[in-house]
Amino acid sequence: MTEYTISALYTKYKDFDLVVDSRRLTRPERTLFFALPGERTDGHDFIPELFRSGVRHFVVMENFGARPQVQGELSEEQWAQASLLRVERPLALLQALAAHHRQQFDIPVLAITGSNGKTIVKDWLAQILSRRFNVCASPRSFNSQIGVPLSVWRLRREHQLAVFEAGVSESGEMARLEAIIKPTCGLFTMLGSAHDAGFPDRETKHREKLSLFKGAEWVAVSADDTDSVRLLRMADIHPLTYLGVEGRFLEVDEEAIRIDFPDLPRIYLENAYATAAVAYESGIDKSTLRSEIPKLRPLSNRLEQREGRRGGVVINDSYSNDLSALAAAIDFAVTQNPFEHLTLILGTLQPGSFNQPGTRGRAQMTELEQLLAGRVDRLITVGESYAATDGHLHYPTPEALLAALDELDTSPETILVKGASYERLDRIADALSRKQHQTLLRLDLTALRHNFQVYQRSVDAGMIVMVKASAYGGGSLPVARALAAAGAERLAVAYPDEGRTLREGGLLLPIMVLNAEAATFGRCATDKLEPVVHQARDLRRARAAGLSVHLEIDTGMARLGFQADDLDALINELQNEDYGPTIASVFTHLAAAEDQAHDGFTRGQIETFDAAYARIAAVLPAPPPRHVLNTNGISRFPDFAYEFVRLGIGLYGIGDASKADELRPALRLVTHITRIYDRPSGSSVGYGRRGKLSRQSRIAVLPVGYADGLPRLAGEGRFRVKTVSGTAPTVGSICMDMTTIDVTDLPAVRAGDEVTLFGPNHPIEILAAAAQTIPYEILTGIGPRVHRVYSEE
Ligand SMILES: *Cc1c(COP(=O)(O)O)cnc(C)c1O
Repeated sequence: MTEYTISALYTKYKDFDLVVDSRRLTRPERTLFFALPGERTDGHDFIPELFRSGVRHFVVMENFGARPQVQGELSEEQWAQASLLRVERPLALLQALAAHHRQQFDIPVLAITGSNGKTIVKDWLAQILSRRFNVCASPRSFNSQIGVPLSVWRLRREHQLAVFEAGVSESGEMARLEAIIKPTCGLFTMLGSAHDAGFPDRETKHREKLSLFKGAEWVAVSADDTDSVRLLRMADIHPLTYLGVEGRFLEVDEEAIRIDFPDLPRIYLENAYATAAVAYESGIDKSTLRSEIPKLRPLSNRLEQREGRRGGVVINDSYSNDLSALAAAIDFAVTQNPFEHLTLILGTLQPGSFNQPGTRGRAQMTELEQLLAGRVDRLITVGESYAATDGHLHYPTPEALLAALDELDTSPETILVKGASYERLDRIADALSRKQHQTLLRLDLTALRHNFQVYQRSVDAGMIVMVKASAYGGGSLPVARALAAAGAERLAVAYPDEGRTLREGGLLLPIMVLNAEAATFGRCATDKLEPVVHQARDLRRARAAGLSVHLEIDTGMARLGFQADDLDALINELQNEDYGPTIASVFTHLAAAEDQAHDGFTRGQIETFDAAYARIAAVLPAPPPRHVLNTNGISRFPDFAYEFVRLGIGLYGIGDASKADELRPALRLVTHITRIYDRPSGSSVGYGRRGKLSRQSRIAVLPVGYADGLPRLAGEGRFRVKTVSGTAPTVGSICMDMTTIDVTDLPAVRAGDEVTLFGPNHPIEILAAAAQTIPYEILTGIGPRVHRVYSEE
């Protein structure tokens, strides 16, 4: 397409929303929809639906006319009202329009790329730069060939600075992103091994990534990254080097600045250094840095789900509040909602988040209503940017809403509370939540999904996720919902009751039940559960009950399953009747997949399984699917992934040494210090006087005990918890509800401080070792009193 046509189209569509996802409509009549062919869905298929929602402008592929089955859904007359722009590649037009839009602005544009940390640094930068500038930032992790043009399209006259992230997986992609972003400065976070396959070699990949910064004035890189420094110099770009020192100092181009960085895991700390360096170079002064940098938090705490005081669910998201953050929060609430009803309590939306600059009042509400339509049942607005209009409840201040909560919150439902952080709508979320025991098990659903994908990518097999024992303590419904949405094909539980919980929670995937006695088959049928059977007799009963079943073969675990001498009876039974559709899978369980010392045994198990399976398959009309591998099996014996694998502990980023580098710890058990006091040398602490003090000591009390799952074996100094300023040993015995720790050596520790029992920077293995057990037992032992809090990045 020529420059001329792009500029003419730009003039026509510059005030339109560019949309590629039919669920993201906010102003149908001002929408230009790009029908992109995708792997699973084709944008063209959504055109009739979009037309009925009011969209009239579509960019389609040249050959679109040859798709009658889609066109057929609209009448001739309707098609005549639609404006169809036929192009060879709709994506190329989207990119060209965005590039043209970018050229209209003469402001600093910062581009971020690198293998890791792009999104977190971008979000942190947006947070800090907003103290001084009106910032336009990519939403979430919009960094792809599609995400970048959509991000750049958000640039508006009122913006003073922009921060965009860019990610590539193949040679040639960066040049297109460069042409759209045209950065004036940049940040390169790091070069990792992701997407190596898309490039001929490392150096080529490195150069390609840095080509984003063509024409930029400076690009921030870690001083340790000497390769990037060299390549940038060769390209005539100033490398702005930064180096953090122990979380206390930052050197930017050799100027040292004293900043207290927050206590973050190492990988996040590197991101915080990068954020501070770029913010400083972009004009944020030192005193602002000193006050803002310590507030940086991993954004996983952004979207939080808690139990409501009426038995419902309260989701709090007090991160930025623009339309796309709101859309993401609603997506999350809709997928996690176990109830019929969803209420949204909405604070002030950021200026500039509406597509028409200066949109106010009625037009703004319409845009919002379109986003909520069909997904949110009740809208309650808070703050002065809204008028008290008909059709929804409105409160001028958070205080006014707090005073009225009792009338509003009467039955269990999901309530999404969404405001910008300065409004402190978290007070409302707190008031709506069940009063909390101060010990929380935090599950980062983003990390959970990431880990799921690490395993999913590593084998060519369907994923069965093991959500038995309340998903290893994490909470079966939220875990199962998150993984069902991420692409899990089947679920597995230990007992029929656990399966029923999943069905009641609305999960529709096939559910395998490992331990279902024949007496429960009736209930299995009602709940559509698929029991595992271990005897020919049960097979007959399951068939009579109309159940699909899984056959477990015992190959060395010696626990459940058909043993070698049961096999003849099984084959006999299978031959006698038509069992074809009944057998949903055949599997075995490995006893020591994690341990190299037993690899001979493990291979023997697999051979035994193969032989048994061959006999079974021979008497069935079609060979049923097979599965053998648990977490460590997937990592260590991927050649035997067969049709399915069964993933458990690895979902939480633990228990699998071979993938430790790629996984993200998803669980954190945290509590708070309730009290601190001094005790003289020679005195004692706790039951049995087992905490003998040999010096003047400072003792802190934690509201967590063995009833919460902190094993008593971890007491008497055998375990150290992590405080904000270092680790501290337990002192004396762990009690049922409380634990004492010795903080004499940590004078900065205060009552109210958070304490981590295990988490990303304090591995669960430490606690497991102190208690002479394994992480599985620690996780599944965490008591029901401990609140589960779910977060999403
Ligand atoms: C629990 C279980 C798994 C999952 O094991 P992980 O080590 O947690 O991955 C797989 N298969 C069976 C039969 C199980 O009981």
